[in-house]
Amino acid sequence: MVTCTGCALLCEDIEVVIENDRIKESRNACRRGAARFRCCKNRLAPSFNKMQTDIDTAIKKAAEILKNAKSPMLFGWSNSTCEAQVKGIQLAKKLNSAIDDTSSFCQGLLIEKVLHKKFRTCSLEDVRNMADVLVYWGSDAQDSQPRHLSRFSVFPRGESRQRGYEEDRLAIAIDVRESNTAKICKGHFYRIPLKGDREFILALMDALVGKVPKYDAKRILELAGFMKKAEFGVIFAGIGLTYSIKEDIDILVSLADLLPNFHIMPMVGHYNMRGFNEALFKETGYVNRVKFDGKPVHDNKYAIVEALKAKSIDALLVMGSDPLSSLPRSVLTHLASIPVICIDPCVTLTSKIAAVTIPSAASGLECGGSAVRMDGKVIELSKVVENSYLTDEQILTRLMEGL
Ligand code: SF4
Repeated sequence: MVTCTGCALLCEDIEVVIENDRIKESRNACRRGAARFRCCKNRLAPSFNKMQTDIDTAIKKAAEILKNAKSPMLFGWSNSTCEAQVKGIQLAKKLNSAIDDTSSFCQGLLIEKVLHKKFRTCSLEDVRNMADVLVYWGSDAQDSQPRHLSRFSVFPRGESRQRGYEEDRLAIAIDVRESNTAKICKGHFYRIPLKGDREFILALMDALVGKVPKYDAKRILELAGFMKKAEFGVIFAGIGLTYSIKEDIDILVSLADLLPNFHIMPMVGHYNMRGFNEALFKETGYVNRVKFDGKPVHDNKYAIVEALKAKSIDALLVMGSDPLSSLPRSVLTHLASIPVICIDPCVTLTSKIAAVTIPSAASGLECGGSAVRMDGKVIELSKVVENSYLTDEQILTRLMEGL
């Protein structure tokens, strides 16, 4: 059995058929996971200034760029092993640079609350064994973490939930659209207006304390009734919810305080985003947006989006991420004027504009390591096929040696 790194569910039950050091077939993975096991057809090659070179020269040129930069940033990390992430944080310390990951425009706010123990959370095994009320809020797990419902939440029988979804579990979706997850929740889909999560939470809190909610009273009272009766409830908080309430994230803590039998789990996309958040938190007390300046300094200006907008960085190392395809064009213009170092197994939009490209082994496929599942459980990854690519960790070690 091997582990899939297609999303932060890190499914450990994947069987693969290997032929000539290539994966011919994978079993048990969802479509997304199966694509991950095929890896990319377009492998990255080492290059400097758009000219192909050897790996040693590419690493040497990358080290020169970082050494000469006055305010570099190291970004990405959510698709790297824990071992590479720790090395990346050491590199940031050595350079006195900024370091950020995709969680600064994703689930970082919620993970920070979890790490500060601001609300109850639980493991996915607890969900499978005990959960009776499952609330997918701003999360379309069916498309983003496709085996979430079948492995852990709605469909499996659990120790205390032997009668499964037919009688023992209630699945609820709260979202701005009827997603594929909401369709499975059938009669228990609560549609809210865009950015309407805060008002919905306030109305739900009114209902939970016995007041008549200000809008959609009938349905909100019904929802509050389901949630109050839960023996073991879980809110799967998706990015839709986090984005909507990011200015007032503590309102979710207030809601959790009114629901003593409920747990909150951030729904994470990238397979090891939580691993990076935990590693940086352990080192600095913050999950992202940090600059090492003798000591760690945390500020929104060290988020990748803000730094690019403010044109405050003069070199960018991107590890296993593709900001060019995920960030709005308006913030990307600065990237064209600074040297970018791209470390990735595959050709990406970002690698196409990079001054230096360094190919790496795909983790969980071409190299092993560990990663942190969305609920905080550490999962081991194994090397599945033989190959000669350097791991992210080895590349970072050599970069540090070259400084
Ligand atoms: S749900 Fe996620 S981890 Fe599991 S097989 Fe699909 S992509 Fe891979």
